[in-house]
Amino acid sequence: MKNSQTLYDQAVKVLPAGVNSPVRAFRSVGGTPIFMEKGEGTYLFDADGNRYLDFCGSWGPLVLGHRHPEVQAAITEVVGRGWTFGTPVKEEVALAQLVADKLDAVEMMRFVNSGTEAVMSAIRLARGTTGRDKILKFRGCYHGHVDYLLVDAGSGLATFGTAASAGVPDAFAELTALAPLDDLEGLQKLFAEIGEQIAAVVIEGVPANNGLLIQSHEYIAGLRRLCDQYGALLIFDEVLAGFRMPEVMAYAHYGVQPDLVCLGKVIGGGMPVGAYGGRAEIMHHIAPLGKVYQAGTLSGNPVAMAAGYATLKAYYEADVPAVIEKLGAYLDPRMEALLADVADLGFIRLGSLFWFYFKRAQAPRTAEAIAAESGEIYGKLHRLMLDRGIYMAPSSYEVGFLNAAMTTTELDMLLDGIKAAVEEGI
Ligand code: PLP
Repeated sequence: MKNSQTLYDQAVKVLPAGVNSPVRAFRSVGGTPIFMEKGEGTYLFDADGNRYLDFCGSWGPLVLGHRHPEVQAAITEVVGRGWTFGTPVKEEVALAQLVADKLDAVEMMRFVNSGTEAVMSAIRLARGTTGRDKILKFRGCYHGHVDYLLVDAGSGLATFGTAASAGVPDAFAELTALAPLDDLEGLQKLFAEIGEQIAAVVIEGVPANNGLLIQSHEYIAGLRRLCDQYGALLIFDEVLAGFRMPEVMAYAHYGVQPDLVCLGKVIGGGMPVGAYGGRAEIMHHIAPLGKVYQAGTLSGNPVAMAAGYATLKAYYEADVPAVIEKLGAYLDPRMEALLADVADLGFIRLGSLFWFYFKRAQAPRTAEAIAAESGEIYGKLHRLMLDRGIYMAPSSYEVGFLNAAMTTTELDMLLDGIKAAVEEGI
């Protein structure tokens, strides 16, 4: 690890903790981050030439794996003509049309540069449309690093055990109401109190930043009913869950229709892209048609749009959800058999997302139900997997990602790694 260590030693002098996003720093699993240099299919190669089977997938965008040839070709073709013009370009129309054709909840959309921006803008739109100020979010759900959404969020914040970020004035968080997941009765009570002041309820399509907290269909249907009853918009943040479900989207998985959908990760194919969209009648409130302002120097830039379009085109052509379910049909029973007698370690998968949970008989549905020791146990598992050339996200709260470049060979590597972990008593 000589080169990686040298890079890290340089990095910590100029980047806080040597990274540009906190969980990458390996603080919760120990050791120092590994500097990667190349990706190919479902493998990563570090600065010292070591190969890793990649279950992190750049935190979600790489549903086709690294350097899918069609995505690479699309990026190269655009770059040959220039990479930003600050004008409308055909690539953004093509991507928007494809998304609108495929997602029945998205008639129109606006592209931005990150998932954070997508959720921030969707909430502004919901407030501007309803004329209400309050929003409701759920404990443990992460929606990016917008001030008023860093209230009991998951992801990096959960990893560090902080309830909210320093630098967020209480006044900014005051308009954010919080509810636990999986508690319809509590939600009904909350709506009875403040429902008429709520502009929007924002929920992760499938909460996946504080473990994989799969909600029941009844709960999500109840949430939709309450929003309708009180005139609040329902925002599905599908930045992570979108294009990762057997039904493509989480809203389709639950059989509900959200008012606004936030997208990111996969729709940029690995380039910095986010989007928010919904019915035309709501989207018409955005400037310059309406009074809700939102803009971006690089929004809809042709390289990112072409990468996203090529990714989604290949995704639908290959029927990636079906490919993933085939992998799942191989993985699930083998993992279940492996863990049948291991009371302390569980595995849960939905679409191309999976998660290992510890010391619980059943997969948790709420952030509160996650075992306190998870971080420490996961740290051991993470190191053991790294030693076997398997790269998993460096935090117990993060999910793993399958991708369409994987085969049973890679699933066997994961199974062998877990078998070794069980034998070592994790
Ligand atoms: N929403 C969800 C559900 C996410 O998982 C994330 C990032 O992981 C975001 C929003 C923020 O996206 P970004 O990191 O692109 O700003």
